[in-house]
Amino acid sequence: MRDSLLKEARRLVIKVGSSLVASRESGLRPDRIERIAEDLSSIKRSGREVLLVSSGAIVSGLQKLGLSAYPKSLPVKQASAAVGQSRLMWAYEKAFEQLGEQVAQVLLTHQDLEDRRRFLNARHTLTTLIEFGIIPVINENDTVAVEEIRFGDNDNLAAQVAHLADADLLVILSDVDGLFTEDPRQNASATLIPLVTEITKDIERLAGSPRTFEGTGGMSTKIQAAKTVAQYGVATLIINGEQPGLLPAVFNGAPAGTFFQPRSHRMASRKHWIAFTVRAKGQIVLDGGAVEALVRRGKSLLPSGILEVDGDFGPGDAVACVDQERKEVAKGLVNFSADTLRKMKGLKTADIQKAMGPQEYEEAIHRDNLVVL
Ligand code: GLU
Repeated sequence: MRDSLLKEARRLVIKVGSSLVASRESGLRPDRIERIAEDLSSIKRSGREVLLVSSGAIVSGLQKLGLSAYPKSLPVKQASAAVGQSRLMWAYEKAFEQLGEQVAQVLLTHQDLEDRRRFLNARHTLTTLIEFGIIPVINENDTVAVEEIRFGDNDNLAAQVAHLADADLLVILSDVDGLFTEDPRQNASATLIPLVTEITKDIERLAGSPRTFEGTGGMSTKIQAAKTVAQYGVATLIINGEQPGLLPAVFNGAPAGTFFQPRSHRMASRKHWIAFTVRAKGQIVLDGGAVEALVRRGKSLLPSGILEVDGDFGPGDAVACVDQERKEVAKGLVNFSADTLRKMKGLKTADIQKAMGPQEYEEAIHRDNLVVL
């Protein structure tokens, strides 16, 4: 499966981590950027479409600001990202220009994707850039993104971009060879896991161990990214980005890195967006009957199956649907505000009419706006 998927993947999102392109001590590393550009250009010449998600703005900016340590304060991080991003882009511009490639800077915030209209608009922009043969170089708009609503790490951003751009493959260039059975820096007997067919709890545990790996996101955010895109039918490959030429080589069959197999059934884009892009603003606790109706029978959620409503949300917002053990079973866009649902909960449609007058919708969440998890 790996071989055929890599061979057939046409549109690629390639993510480069901060530690590959910059260091705290000496700032940006143009030599690394040149090598990455060479690899990407060679892949593009072989007939594939390439989108690059590159970190490194904050770390590159530190040196320009004369700071030696990674800042804790958000405004300093944001200032550092502002000075670093232009330097990062300048290096990519220069490196790609020498190879006859054009690049474009795209800075995204999570809000750009949370609004479905803006999401589709960003999708059109990326597609248009690709049609022009341009390589989009994407980063989070760190300078304006507020902490609570950030993508947070670029592994997550890259996963969102893979969905946004309708990519066939996500490639994460890391400073390690892939996912190991143990931390290879601590334990020489650790072995590389070449193939992950399903991201189980055990795989997540492997990546989540606090001893595991360095770097901005670490392995756990990479696994989460792989999990997110797998639902969209997109495979992920984590390989070592420090080895020049490895990236083009894997497309010619070199057996490097860890390959994460995608789900065979691709989730519809809108449902994927509800499940993985939009953030839940509240929580609805369902009774057993409603859980059964949603999960097994593909029904809409009616107010009669609601036991409790937590949070403060409005019509159209995303909410998590949980069972009585508070395990998330579904996520969806609600038709009513939290306050209205609190009045409706447990009531049959006829009783709601009697108590509150005629309502625009019968369902609390229509099944078209609902994703079972
Ligand atoms: N967007 C951040 C930067 O360019 C990196 C976030 C991350 O480390 O994943 O510096």
